[in-house]
Amino acid sequence: MFTSLEGKTVIVTGASKGIGRGIALRFGAAGLNVLVVSRTLADAEKVAAEIGPNASAFAADVSSPEDSEAMAAAALERYGRIDVLCANAGIFPAARLGQMTAADFDHVIGVNLKGTFLSVSAVLPAMKAAKKGRIVLTSSITGPITGYPGWTHYGASKAGQMGFMRTAAIELAPWNITVNAVMPGNILTEGLEGAGPEYMAAMTASIPMRKLGSVADIANAALFFASEEAGYITGQGMVIDGGQVLPESIGALEEMDKA
Ligand code: NAP
Repeated sequence: MFTSLEGKTVIVTGASKGIGRGIALRFGAAGLNVLVVSRTLADAEKVAAEIGPNASAFAADVSSPEDSEAMAAAALERYGRIDVLCANAGIFPAARLGQMTAADFDHVIGVNLKGTFLSVSAVLPAMKAAKKGRIVLTSSITGPITGYPGWTHYGASKAGQMGFMRTAAIELAPWNITVNAVMPGNILTEGLEGAGPEYMAAMTASIPMRKLGSVADIANAALFFASEEAGYITGQGMVIDGGQVLPESIGALEEMDKA
């Protein structure tokens, strides 16, 4: 049995939809106070209402230093503490090299990577004062391990988060603050459903477990990193992908199907 996290406070960025919503619901069910953050207040409010009285919404753009500071201030004002940050907000527009503009590149890096840095920076004063904290980044398999056409900027941002994480974990260890990352494979979200049935079928076929992940699969891993019991784990990534990155070739999956 894991130690209860009831009464602690978590900030979840990008929590109005998809994986972030799943993380917010899971942490809320575990009894934490949840600050549900996205740029669109009305969407964040819906998720906070779903969680219950231990949650509230806040509108912030994680690529803005001012918004990030305001987000941390709101958590402190409402709940008096910040125990956990789930830096999850991310965007994944596609553009091939040759068409990708400098502005496209800056936008993705600005939200996914600079946004991670800004969210972490904003919660540090509270975590350092408490001499304790848990930071969980949402990276991806795409970038750190795999690639996908159209996502050079996205892959760079997600691999960048892992580089950021390793040095942050060393810098923050003296304050008993851990920094880890969940690395999702293909997770069934509203966004992915929009990619169409063909994309979904091709993705499913490439996964040894032959199913897409759920947001709960990622939320459970994030909750583990936030637990007391994970206190000696820092600077690590956890791949949650149903085995997607494992086959060395399509032949490996064909061989698997012969079983
Ligand atoms: P999603 O369904 O598109 O949700 C993205 C969330 O982030 C929304 O709440 C959105 O709300 C918020 N957001 C976007 N830009 C923001 C900004 N600048 N500031 C604050 N919030 C912002 O995305 P998802 O699929 O759940 O992905 C979430 C994270 O998981 C991302 O970091 C992504 O890279 C990672 N990931 C996803 C998958 C997957 O299969 N879905 C796989 C690997 C990794 P607003 O637009 O209202 O701000």
